Amino acid sequence: MKIRVGQGYDVHRLEVGRPFWLGGIQIPCEFGPVGHSDADVVCHVLCDALLGAANMRNIGYHFSDKDPRWKGVDSKVLLAEVLRMVREAGYDISNVDVTVVLQEPKLNPHIPAMKTCLAGVMNIPEDDISIKATTSEHIGFVGRGEGIAAHCVALIYR
Ligand code: MG
Repeated sequence: MKIRVGQGYDVHRLEVGRPFWLGGIQIPCEFGPVGHSDADVVCHVLCDALLGAANMRNIGYHFSDKDPRWKGVDSKVLLAEVLRMVREAGYDISNVDVTVVLQEPKLNPHIPAMKTCLAGVMNIPEDDISIKATTSEHIGFVGRGEGIAAHCVALIYR
């Protein structure tokens, strides 16, 4: 069996009045991330980690932010397409582990709903999806509330 690991990293700016999409769900908040798509950093790092594991470039390569097709797109659509591509290359998903770095709001209450949503989109068990949240201790762009960052590792096999 061939086992491969990939990692993903993403940042989006936060702005008042934007819907806060994260992990496929909308979080009640007066601000949210800005992007060409719905700016869901959890979906984006999952795409990049899975594409990286399969050595299939990155999310921007497949879904350009210059392409009007992806303007305002639900990132779950992109994630589902990445899974289709990775599975088409013969891989199965072992597990994924995401860390979101955000000063506020607190994400822990929303993590179970994100896992349920993503398990449906990715067609893998919730137990194979880990989502963790941490702050930036009020340091840097995340600490000042200017942005949200996320990291992800994914393990795939065939
Ligand atoms: Mg992104």
